[in-house]
Amino acid sequence: MKFSTKAIHVGQEPDELTGAVTVPLYQTSTYAQEAIGKHKGWEYARTQNPTRTRWETCLAALEEGVAAYAFGSGLAAIDTVMRLLDAGDHVIMAEDMYGGTYRLAMRVLSRYGLSFSFVDMRDMGNIEAAITPQTKMIYTETPTNPMMTLTDLRAVADVSARIGALMVVDNTFASPYFQRPLTLGADIVLHSATKYLGGHSDLVHGIVATRHEHLAEKIQFLQNAVGAVPGPMECWLCLRSVKTLHVRMDRHAANAQRIAEWLEQQPAVKKVYYPGLASHPQHELARQQMSGFGGMISVELGSLEQAKAFTSALKLFTLAESLGGVESLVCHPVSMTHGSIPKDQRERLGVTDGLVRLSVGIEDAEDLLNDVQQALAHVA
Ligand SMILES: *Cc1c(COP(=O)(O)O)cnc(C)c1O
Repeated sequence: MKFSTKAIHVGQEPDELTGAVTVPLYQTSTYAQEAIGKHKGWEYARTQNPTRTRWETCLAALEEGVAAYAFGSGLAAIDTVMRLLDAGDHVIMAEDMYGGTYRLAMRVLSRYGLSFSFVDMRDMGNIEAAITPQTKMIYTETPTNPMMTLTDLRAVADVSARIGALMVVDNTFASPYFQRPLTLGADIVLHSATKYLGGHSDLVHGIVATRHEHLAEKIQFLQNAVGAVPGPMECWLCLRSVKTLHVRMDRHAANAQRIAEWLEQQPAVKKVYYPGLASHPQHELARQQMSGFGGMISVELGSLEQAKAFTSALKLFTLAESLGGVESLVCHPVSMTHGSIPKDQRERLGVTDGLVRLSVGIEDAEDLLNDVQQALAHVA
């Protein structure tokens, strides 16, 4: 089965009891048992919920894993994956990534005896140099937020296999439609489903998939033991959304490509970061490991004043955190999503006061382009 067929059919067979074509929403906390020790396999809704199971089954198929597990948010998913580790273990993380992951590592997990090294993963030498005998996980995000840098997933998979460390990939930006890390050697892939998987800016949700049975068992144990589970309504909404993931992603990417190419020609724009541009330093790698380049673009406008002028003049792009919904958004990473990353580190990465990030929606491309054009006229 091809991707779009899986998105619409896997885990979504008509309901056995009634024939309902849409997966029912099991809004329940518990299940009646016939007698002591005799039940239908459903006992308590933190442990199992049929709506959640259907969604997990679908996502596992889309990521080409053996199983997937859903969580109350992307960060809850990341936190649960980190609990596969023991105190004393060391993690190598990408230095340019979602600010909340950095905050979880430094302000929470490091208090429990985990240690972290943050490296520029564009150069494999940096990963090699950070390896210690305690390194048990290599954690990456590609393309990264907000600098759109890529990690060579096959190369990282070789290193992590060699040293026996788990390779974890945050696949939020690409979605499984454009990139499937498990097929490139990653052990675990995770998402903030709040973004493209949910796709309509109406839920907060996370999901983890793996290609190993032994890891699936451990993650399932943690899902129940830690308990950071989503409600069934979010799972139901994700199932509904994922049916159109392929259609949405194609449009996000087509719109973003057009806007990125136009922006690149404008003298008021200092730099455009989009993996679909031939000028992107890792465009070749993007072509090898992704089947499309996504809907996220970052733009360097030179200063905070220019960023303010541009974002306040935009009409269709709403100034807001988050991304991946059908409607276009604009965000100012320094003041919004990346405030928790120290200033010197931020500036070294290119996350400057003049950087704005566009989440290009699936509106009409011409309308979006006109909006960007009139807003850019306000930038000196
Ligand atoms: C939003 C985001 C997260 C965190 O997910 P939540 O659903 O907000 O908890 C993690 N990684 C990336 C790349 C994100 O964009």
